Amino acid sequence: MKDIKSFNIEELKTEMKEIGEPSFRAEQIFSWLHEKKVNSFEDMSNLSKDLRTKLSKNYEITALSEVRSLKSEDGTVKFLYKLKDGQVIESVLMSYKHGHSICVSSQVGCRMGCVFCASTIDGLVRNLTPSELLEQVYEAERSCNVNISNIVIMGSGEPMDNYDNVIKFIRLISDEHGKNISVRNITLSTCGLVPGIQRLADEGLPVTLALSLHAPNDELRKTIMPVAKAFSVAEIMKACDDYFKKTSRRVTFEYSMIDGVNDTTACAEELARLIKGKNCHVNLIPVNKIKERSFSRSKDDNISKFKNTLEKNRINVTIRRSMGTDIDAACGQLRRSFMEEGN
Ligand code: SAH
Repeated sequence: MKDIKSFNIEELKTEMKEIGEPSFRAEQIFSWLHEKKVNSFEDMSNLSKDLRTKLSKNYEITALSEVRSLKSEDGTVKFLYKLKDGQVIESVLMSYKHGHSICVSSQVGCRMGCVFCASTIDGLVRNLTPSELLEQVYEAERSCNVNISNIVIMGSGEPMDNYDNVIKFIRLISDEHGKNISVRNITLSTCGLVPGIQRLADEGLPVTLALSLHAPNDELRKTIMPVAKAFSVAEIMKACDDYFKKTSRRVTFEYSMIDGVNDTTACAEELARLIKGKNCHVNLIPVNKIKERSFSRSKDDNISKFKNTLEKNRINVTIRRSMGTDIDAACGQLRRSFMEEGN
């Protein structure tokens, strides 16, 4: 069975040709799937009964089944979804004054091995398909009856390690005949796979790039992020500069603050030297404690000192508001606790 929700309109037209249908059916089906978000061929009421039967014999419509959802005091909702093959992923819906934003996972598990992250502990299981990425958005909208306007590809997984499916997802979700989200409202977060950043810069998609830096030099970065052995900070900076030149999108550097590891004033000064003068933004994230590791979050005092050092160098910096920590909202934690219950 073919995954019909992962097809764009051009591909659907080819499919229609193959099954002997006129090409305008492609637009109709696309709109049912991506605009009206139906999950059954039966609901596609402007298609003949014969066509609906034909479609259901050849194609499947990807759907996620919600196994759990948790609502935080701050309104954040964390969803745990089961996929067709029984794998479980998580997504987080965050509500702000200016609208609703969703954090989607791009893979089941992750193979990047960052030492402070819960998603990577059991390695990579598999990539998510474009339709599984889309359904995280659609299902959250259905279930909370909201219109999502911002997407951050910042959940479990490394999007650059599932490049083609992630790009397809971005093109589908921003298609004017579908959900039509502005590409400018999409942020992709990467641990720094340089070839992926270079490719993304040439896609013609003005996605906001968030770069998980977490350390100002290779030596320290290698101790917390194995990917640092493959790509140096210098190579990453060059790729980010080029990304900005080509897309005019200001790059965000994410910096998870771990007590006693990367939060010293010396680190802040080194980071300031590294990025001073760049059109960028730094997001400081007090690390979320995961029980499998002994790291703890930086002390508030050290976080403000770090921030001040950057600000003195006229670097744009914010401290990420922790949302939903009461519901295990940090990367991969809810999925892990669910699996540990023997599911
Ligand atoms: N693989 C991508 C996206 C997923 S992780 C990336 O590395 O960017 C999203 C962000 O959360 C990354 O910056 C990641 O380093 C950070 N992160 C992971 N675990 C965390 C934790 N326990 N506390 C704080 N930030 C964490």
